[in-house]
Amino acid sequence: MMMTVQVSKSVTALDKIDLDAPIFDPGAFRLNDEQAGIITTARELGQTVFAGRAAAYDRDAKFPTENYGDLHRTGLLGIAIPKKHGGLGAGYQTYAIAAAEIGRYCGATALTWNMHVCSTLWSGPLADDLDMDAETRAEHERRRAVHYKRIVEDGAIYSQPFSEGGAAAAGSVAFGTEAKPVKGGWIVNGKKIFASLSGHADYYGVLCTEIAEGEKASRRNTLYLALPAQSDGVSVVGDWDPLGMRGTVSRTLLFKDVFVAEDAALMPRGVYFQAAMRWPHMFLTLSPTYVGLAQAAYDFTVRYLRGEVPGTPPVKRRMYPTKQIAVAQIQIKLEQIKTIWFQAITEARANPTKEQVLRAYAAQYSAMEGANEIATLAIRTCGGQAMLKSLPLERIYRDSRCGSLMLPWTAELCLDRIGREALYETGESDE
Ligand SMILES: Cc1cc2nc3c(=O)[nH]c(=O)nc-3n(C[C@H](O)[C@H](O)[C@H](O)COP(=O)(O)OP(=O)(O)OC[C@H]3O[C@@H](n4cnc5c(N)ncnc54)[C@H](O)[C@@H]3O)c2cc1C
Repeated sequence: MMMTVQVSKSVTALDKIDLDAPIFDPGAFRLNDEQAGIITTARELGQTVFAGRAAAYDRDAKFPTENYGDLHRTGLLGIAIPKKHGGLGAGYQTYAIAAAEIGRYCGATALTWNMHVCSTLWSGPLADDLDMDAETRAEHERRRAVHYKRIVEDGAIYSQPFSEGGAAAAGSVAFGTEAKPVKGGWIVNGKKIFASLSGHADYYGVLCTEIAEGEKASRRNTLYLALPAQSDGVSVVGDWDPLGMRGTVSRTLLFKDVFVAEDAALMPRGVYFQAAMRWPHMFLTLSPTYVGLAQAAYDFTVRYLRGEVPGTPPVKRRMYPTKQIAVAQIQIKLEQIKTIWFQAITEARANPTKEQVLRAYAAQYSAMEGANEIATLAIRTCGGQAMLKSLPLERIYRDSRCGSLMLPWTAELCLDRIGREALYETGESDE
C-alpha cells in the first residue's frame, strides 16, 4: 500500500518519502493528470506536514493556523477559484477528492477547509450553472473577483456559519439572522452556533434573510454575505471543548447591528435559494473529510496489525483469523463508501435526476456513518494499546463521530428524505 514518490520541494524539504497510495487511484478512477496533480499536492501536504501537527490541534482545541499558511503557499486555499483569477481552477470532483486526502491526515483542517472552499465553489462553478440575467451575472463576476483576489493574494480565510440551533440550517424555515437593506448594503443582526473558524477566519460567509421593513421572512430571500471578521458589532462568544473535530474552533458568533457593504455578497439575491433547490450536491461537501477519516482508520489498522506503526513495538497481530476477518469487513465497508461517494461527487451538477439526488443522500449517509463504523471496528480489532492518545486512532474515532451531525444533511435527515422521496413523487400526498 506504500509507494515511493519524489515529493516536490514546495511541499517538503525531504528529498524522498514513502507516500501513502492515493485513496482514489487516478488510473482506476479515470482522473486526468491535472486532477491527479492537485490531489497529490493535497496528499503530500497532509501526510508530510498536517499529520504531524494534528494531535496538538486536537489536544488543545486549537485552530490549525499553520496549516492554512501551507494551504495558501501551495495554492490549495484557492483550489476552486478559476484559473483566470489566479486559482487552481479545480471542479467539484477534484476538490472533493483533495479534501478527502486532507481529512485522512487532519480531520479538523479538512472540515474547516471545506467551509472556506465552499465560499469559492458556490460563488464559482456552482453559480455559473444557475440562472442570472446578464446584468446580475456581470455584477456577480465583479464581486467574486474581489473575494478571489483576497484569497489568492493575501491568503484570506472564509468561513461558512449557517447553523442557528433551530430548523433553518435543516432547510425548513428562513434563517433567523436578518439583513435589513440600508443605503450601500445591509445591517445584520443575529446569532450563529457551531461557527467553525470563529475568531480565525478573515470573513464570515453568513447565511441570512433579507427582510425589508414590514416584510415577512422567506427562504427565497436568503443572502450569502462575506462579513469582515473585524467589523464593529461582531463578537465570538462561548467556549469550545467538544468530543471531536476540536481544531475547528466552532464557537458562537454574534452580530449586533453590523453594517455589511453590497460588495460583500458572495451570491446575488435569490441565487442561494436557487442553488439549494437546483444544485443539491452543494450540501454533500461536508462528506469528503469523513471519507478521508474512513481511509485513515483502515490505513492505521493494516499498519498496526502488521506491527509497522511508528512508536509502537513491532508486534505482529495479523496472523489471527478474527483480525483478518475484521480487516476484510473494514475493507469491504471502505470500498462501499468510496464507490457510492465517488459516483455521487462525479454526478454533482445542476438539476440532477431524482435517482442522483437519492444517491447523494445515500453517499452522505454512507460516508458519515461508515467512517465511524470503520473507526469503531478498528479500535476493537487493534486492541487496547491502539487507542492510547499517543496514536491517531482514537482521534479518528472521535472526529468521525461528528460527521452524521452536520446539517442540513445529518444522517437522520438523509434517512428521512430517502424514505419520503422514494415513496412520494413531488406533490403527492395520501389526503
Ligand atoms: C465539529 C462541528 C463543526 C461544525 N461546523 C459548522 C460550521 O462551520 N457552520 C455551520 O453552520 N454549522 C456547523 N456545525 C453545525 C452542524 O451543521 C449542525 O448545525 C449542528 O451540529 C446541529 O446541532 P443542534 O444541537 O442544533 O442539532 P439538532 O437539534 O439535531 O438540529 C437542529 C434543528 O434541526 C432540525 N432537525 C434536526 N433533526 C431533524 C430531523 N430528523 N427532522 C426534522 N428536523 C430536524 C430541528 O428543527 C432541530 O431543532 C458544526 C458541527 C460540528 C459538530
